Amino acid sequence: MPTHALAWGPTGHRIVAALAERQLSAPARASLQPLLARSHARALADVATWADDLRDDRRRRALWRATSKLHFVNFTDASCRYDAPRDCAGGRCAVAAIQRYTHILGDRARSPDQRAQALRMLVHLVADVHQPLHAGYRRDAGGNRYQVRVEGRRGGTNLHAVWDTPVLGDSPGGWRARAADLARAPVFPASGQAAEWAEESCRATRDAGVYPSRHRIDAAYLRHARPLAERRLRQAAARLAALLERALAPRH
Ligand SMILES: [Zn+2]
Repeated sequence: MPTHALAWGPTGHRIVAALAERQLSAPARASLQPLLARSHARALADVATWADDLRDDRRRRALWRATSKLHFVNFTDASCRYDAPRDCAGGRCAVAAIQRYTHILGDRARSPDQRAQALRMLVHLVADVHQPLHAGYRRDAGGNRYQVRVEGRRGGTNLHAVWDTPVLGDSPGGWRARAADLARAPVFPASGQAAEWAEESCRATRDAGVYPSRHRIDAAYLRHARPLAERRLRQAAARLAALLERALAPRH
């Protein structure tokens, strides 16, 4: 049983990164460039899936094992209230990880490599915590243990995997076209902290029809889910941009 499906898939992660990068001020962008260069990258979207890619990189096994629990947070029940000692024991969840990596990124006393790695983790985890099922219920491992049938497809899958990519739908121009499209919508006001973003995700799984009736995913379900998925991507981008702005903009 997978403990962590790749949330949003590469498409969602790159969209969030590209949207966030557009929103950065010139000084924050200037501080971002040398950190991206350390990762042999030029754009934030280039490093957006690094944290998931670790899973398939044999040389980074230890790092994957140490970080795999940081991609999500599980809630105990439908109250969707985050309680750190209960829901994030030892700081091993997305909420605490976002706080830790934000601190490292903003700390000029850290080595450039540490800060570059913190950036790669942050661009990924802020998106993950906005995927509703990455802050879902512990009892079904955020939909990983909730089996569904997708209309027109053979075999079953699980709800978490459906929220990975199918809810975003296809776009002929790929993720770049999709990001450009979403960038035309107004930027969300960036608000709150990681714990609140996770609670929002949990409430979305509870209230927004994320759990399909009769375990069936059909065209109507996807039509309904897509605006929510897009809203979560845009919110993630605005919050990521604000967080990077605070951590990277030169201090006075
Ligand atoms: Zn992830």
